[in-house]
Amino acid sequence: MYYYSVNSNDKMFHSEGCGHIKTIKSENLRAFDSVDRAHRAQYKYCPCCSPVGKRLKKELEDVKAFCKKKGLVCFTYEDNLHIYTNRNHWQVVTAEDREHMDLHKRSALGGNDAVYSRQNFRADTIMEYAEHIAEADKFRLEDYIVA
Ligand SMILES: [Zn+2]
Repeated sequence: MYYYSVNSNDKMFHSEGCGHIKTIKSENLRAFDSVDRAHRAQYKYCPCCSPVGKRLKKELEDVKAFCKKKGLVCFTYEDNLHIYTNRNHWQVVTAEDREHMDLHKRSALGGNDAVYSRQNFRADTIMEYAEHIAEADKFRLEDYIVA
């Protein structure tokens, strides 16, 4: 079950065990039986208890330091992590199975019209995704740094 408040402005929903559930008044507390339903109702996964959010709690500082060293732009948005190189925009997102993380990529050259596509790469840690991204765009990054 995924819990939410019927009386909230931020329209977040939470996994079982998330500390935020306790802050919801019992008369406002409701539950979705699936993440899909929550998304269809325009609710967003809480950044503290989503699969990506849980990893970010442990790894965000390390991933930020790694990205800085590699010249990558990295930031979080809702429960996703974005990493931008000069060639591609990458996103680490909650996978459709709601348990794992997926990697999505779009060309940085297409602007905001470019469409993200799911990559055939799966890892258990966000650092592995960051390393994969740095490796995938490595030669381009080196070109960029030299130029
Ligand atoms: Zn939560």
